[in-house]
Amino acid sequence: MSKVKSGDNIKITAGRDKGKTGKVERVLPQIRGGSVLVTGINLYKKHLKARGGRAGEMIEKAHPLPMGNIAIICPKCNKPTRIGYEVDRQGKKLRICRKCKEAI
Ligand SMILES: [Zn+2]
Repeated sequence: MSKVKSGDNIKITAGRDKGKTGKVERVLPQIRGGSVLVTGINLYKKHLKARGGRAGEMIEKAHPLPMGNIAIICPKCNKPTRIGYEVDRQGKKLRICRKCKEAI
C-alpha cells in the first residue's frame, strides 16, 4: 500500500523544486520504486515536431517525482510529516500523522 494518495498535499524535500508544495495528481507505483505526479511541479517543455499537416507545438508535461523527494503535508497540523499506520476497531488501516497523531 502506497503512503501517498492522489489529492494529498505534499512538500518537495529534494531536487530542483525543493521547498515547493503541490497536490498529488497521480501515484505511479511502477516508476522508480514509486513516484508521484504533482500538479504544476517538475514541468518540462516538450517540442512536438510538425507532422502530416499538424503544426509543431510546445507542450508542458509534468515529470514524476520520486517518493523519496516528497513529504506529505498533514491536513490537520499543516506540517510536512511522516506517515504511520494504525488499525482501527473495524480492522481498517488508517494513515496517521506522526507529528499530531491524527488520522489523515
Ligand atoms: Zn499532523
